[in-house]
Amino acid sequence: MAFEFADRVKNLPPYLFKEIDRLKAELIARGVDVINLGVGDPDLPTPKHIIERLKEAAEDPANHQYPSYSGMNDFKGAVARWYKRRFGVDLDPASEVITLIGSKEGIAHLPLAFINPGDLALIPSPAYPVYGVAVMFAGGNTHEIPLLKENGFLPDLDAIPADVAKRAKLLFINYPNNPTGATAEADFFQKVVAFAREYDVIVCHDAAYTEMAFDGYRPMSFLEVPGAKEVGIEFHSLSKTCNMTGWRLGFAVGHAKVLEGLGQIKSNVDSGAFNAVQLAGITALESDQTCVKEMQAIYQERRDVLIRGLREVGLHAEPPKATFYVWCPTPQGMTSAQFTSLLLKEAGIVTTPGSGFGAPGEGYVRMALTVSKERIQEAVERIRKVSF
Ligand SMILES: *Cc1c(COP(=O)(O)O)cnc(C)c1O
Repeated sequence: MAFEFADRVKNLPPYLFKEIDRLKAELIARGVDVINLGVGDPDLPTPKHIIERLKEAAEDPANHQYPSYSGMNDFKGAVARWYKRRFGVDLDPASEVITLIGSKEGIAHLPLAFINPGDLALIPSPAYPVYGVAVMFAGGNTHEIPLLKENGFLPDLDAIPADVAKRAKLLFINYPNNPTGATAEADFFQKVVAFAREYDVIVCHDAAYTEMAFDGYRPMSFLEVPGAKEVGIEFHSLSKTCNMTGWRLGFAVGHAKVLEGLGQIKSNVDSGAFNAVQLAGITALESDQTCVKEMQAIYQERRDVLIRGLREVGLHAEPPKATFYVWCPTPQGMTSAQFTSLLLKEAGIVTTPGSGFGAPGEGYVRMALTVSKERIQEAVERIRKVSF
């Protein structure tokens, strides 16, 4: 039978890494020693004490049944205490925190709670692809706000036409930013709160990278800004912070009604995150944070090796203050796709073309600091030999 996909599947953009994965597999099959700077997945293992807590919790039959839909009270309490310690933000664990099966899950489900067919959402471009796809799945339309170098890769909210802003239901933002590595400060978040108030827009801040920062920099939470909790929510994740991408544990915090909407969707789709994983998550949030500092030092060293090497060949990428992404401008006269392809074919290095994250990402490639500094040094040596 020639079953036909629904429009929402037919309308999906090609998966960003699909073509890159194919080319990478081809090179590996030919025996090329590929250096993968393509995917934002930490290469180092989850800290031992978190694994130990999971093992112990997995043994306990009390954790073998369906978890609570919105998350374990103990985990939500730990999230609230972490927000207080880390950001000085007060949260009611019962109504202002929800457990997610990774933050991607929450981001993907949120539009189903607030977007009717034809409704509009504002999304940055370039961006993590899930925002736009999730809005499309809900039947909504997107208006893309370009992230440009001259604006520090922050969306220029004043440039959004008033009639568009009036129609918008959601605004997605993400700082520290994937893919540009840009960061945002209070003045920007204050503008976001004012915009949301003026146009009655729900702000969804994806804060997956607040703990991955360098040189002593401490990224802030959107919720630190006065009024933020009245206009939106923040998504967070243990994936990047604690090398836990495979565990699937995240959370959203903020506006109680927005979280209630998300919770209503979730309780009809999934049945919560494994309690043993949430108990290990409590350990991750409440134990000594030395492992987070160690990771920061490792990424910082890798970043410096890469930035120095790129500068030596005339590629002036800014060292990111946060995230494990280097947003590298392409050589003169070369598109993102051309440079990605050149690096792959002539140097065996996988990068991601900036244009794959949205048209304004053209002119850049994203390099993830997810291999050892020795491998990054090797990548730099190889790039030196490529002519462009
Ligand atoms: C990695 C990532 C996430 C998703 O993380 P989860 O593993 O689903 O918690 C969300 N947003 C951005 C921008 C990311 O890069």
